[in-house]
Amino acid sequence: MNIQLNPEERDRILAKAALFAPPENLLPDGRRDLVGLSRAELLDVVKEAGEQPFRAKQLWHWIYHQGVTDFSAMSSIARPLQEKFAEKFVIGRPETAIDQLSKDGTRKFLFKFRDSEKVETVYIPDPVEDRGAVCISSQVGCTLSCRFCHTGTQRLARNLSSAEIVGQFMAARDAYKEWPSPKGETPRLLSTIVLMGMGEPLYNYENVAQAMKIVMDGEGIALSRRRITLSTSGVVPMMDRAGEELGVNLAVSLHAVRDDLRDELVPLNRKYPIKELIAACKRYPGASNARRITFEYVMLKGINDSEIDARALVYLIAGLPAKVNLIPFNPWPGSAYETSTPAAIRKFANIVMDAGYASPVRTPRGQDILAACGQLKSAEIGVLAQPPIV
Ligand code: SAH
Ligand code: SF4
Repeated sequence: MNIQLNPEERDRILAKAALFAPPENLLPDGRRDLVGLSRAELLDVVKEAGEQPFRAKQLWHWIYHQGVTDFSAMSSIARPLQEKFAEKFVIGRPETAIDQLSKDGTRKFLFKFRDSEKVETVYIPDPVEDRGAVCISSQVGCTLSCRFCHTGTQRLARNLSSAEIVGQFMAARDAYKEWPSPKGETPRLLSTIVLMGMGEPLYNYENVAQAMKIVMDGEGIALSRRRITLSTSGVVPMMDRAGEELGVNLAVSLHAVRDDLRDELVPLNRKYPIKELIAACKRYPGASNARRITFEYVMLKGINDSEIDARALVYLIAGLPAKVNLIPFNPWPGSAYETSTPAAIRKFANIVMDAGYASPVRTPRGQDILAACGQLKSAEIGVLAQPPIV
């Protein structure tokens, strides 16, 4: 059986994720944080507290539609019950340890969780329209150590919980006073989520999936799946599942068109080589011209940016509804690569475009505050001392 369809391989990935499980979402005084629970879990918690099931629906509305963090603001719930809830529960947010604004409007948050682990989250305003994307982290660190990525130098401390994943978005909304959630599709500043921060989302699948189901729920934040993009370095066995269960947009960090080079740049390629990765993209549910797969391609001077590479790329993705995001390499302290020249990037982009694929060059955002792609890092641990765990 193909590796990508082998259930044992999926189970292995999920079992490994469990080894890095986040702590329980409880306060030291025993109160439970309600953020991050699925609807069914919230219902159980409400029933356990001896309350009627419809209370779960009310709580969901106040937490995810209104964005309140205080039970006393829940005007549809009588005072005594508000007080009872406040004795048992909290509606938490990560603590904002650092909040930095770039000169281009990009804003980077360093969020701290109850166990003091931290991640970075970036708000990227659209340069033209009044809206923007929130770039969310899924893990503290990353096991994969791609050679060009700053996060990859930070050992994986642990996975984030669904509360911590959805909490990054909610805390960013707090910062922009963007509650309540809009009804329907009205564009708002924080109108898109990209799972492109720290970590590999498909190595923390269960928590990422639960968080995305919460943000997509129509009675809460209600983001459409079209407004969510999950970026993976190519965890082939989990790609099908993400497509079936979540149906969000998929971005694939390709970065090289030959296995020997990709093995070096993205070590996960040694496990799931290019051919399997492209096959998984072809199977990705809903991939169509309207919902194209994005291939991300970091432009590294003299490494992967030749015209031959560009032609091989076009050949590789032939027949796939796709676009190619060219990302000029963003340097970070100690990085070993240089950014391709603008001329090389232009040539590369033109070859891809002439073959019929959109090939936007991603303008680096927030570089002055180390908020651009691949610059995120939340610990000063230095370069990884052990080989990547794939
Ligand atoms: N782990 C996931 C998502 C986070 S990285 C993944 O690898 O897809 C988001 C994107 O930034 C990826 O395409 C990643 O390869 C790219 N990236 C990493 N380091 C970079 C750097 N220094 N310069 C430009 N892009 C980088
Ligand atoms: Fe991890 Fe993605 Fe960085 Fe690779 S590029 S080290 S998978 S965060």
